[in-house]
Amino acid sequence: MKFCMKCGAFYEVKEGVEGCPKCAEAAALLKAAEEAEIAHTMDEKTAKRLRKRAWLELLIGVPAFIGFIYGLLFLFRRLRG
Ligand SMILES: [Zn+2]
Repeated sequence: MKFCMKCGAFYEVKEGVEGCPKCAEAAALLKAAEEAEIAHTMDEKTAKRLRKRAWLELLIGVPAFIGFIYGLLFLFRRLRG
């Protein structure tokens, strides 16, 4: 039986497990939470970038489409005389 100075728990020393299993579990949970947070932040960034790109496409695409239609109309009028 060993005593953990960090979390104050008694634990059995097992083969392959170093130190307190309670602290190891807490550290693993903290690491998982941090990784999840980083992934979430990255997702947010990607979403923001995608939204920005969609807006840019709309801002460029719509006037371009209108210009294309006007160009066609202009051509038709020119062809008809
Ligand atoms: Zn501990």
